[in-house]
Amino acid sequence: MTTLSGLAAVAAVTSLAVVACTSVAADGDDPAPTDSDRSSSGRASGIPGAADGVLPEKTSAFDTDLPGVAKLDPDLLKAVQQAETAMAKDGITMQLTTGWRSKKYQQALLDKAIRKYGSKQKALKYVATPEESHHVTGDAVDIGPTDADDWIIRKGARFGLCQTLSHERWHFELATTPGGECPPMS
Ligand SMILES: [Zn+2]
Repeated sequence: MTTLSGLAAVAAVTSLAVVACTSVAADGDDPAPTDSDRSSSGRASGIPGAADGVLPEKTSAFDTDLPGVAKLDPDLLKAVQQAETAMAKDGITMQLTTGWRSKKYQQALLDKAIRKYGSKQKALKYVATPEESHHVTGDAVDIGPTDADDWIIRKGARFGLCQTLSHERWHFELATTPGGECPPMS
């Protein structure tokens, strides 16, 4: 019975898919499991770990030993590294909140949002399905803190980085050529 309702849930989620990204973190929630969960993944608890792309606090785009950084699209990663270096010269320290995520990690975020917002339909306004998330394909990053987001919104296009979702000021993708213009947000 549990299995059947789980399958039904997956089907419903898929049919309602929208392109939203994350990040329960933006609401002051902490999507990251605790330290003890980071070393492993796929345990009985099903809690996502480092292998699923969970990043520790203060992750830099140069922390390429972490799967959440290493599995980003190489061109996106390079652009984010360039932005990190450039904004450091302006006195701003950037953190990579999320890069690549496994489907399991994305599903865990969606499940958490469903619990938080009370329905799948509401949750999908804030968190994408594993099939839709650009984090799962390695094509999106979430960056903090706010002054780093503001910096990229103002200057990121020189590296091709654009805010792509109007309601997510922390979510960036490689959406233009370096020095180009960012496309309208969805
Ligand atoms: Zn995002």
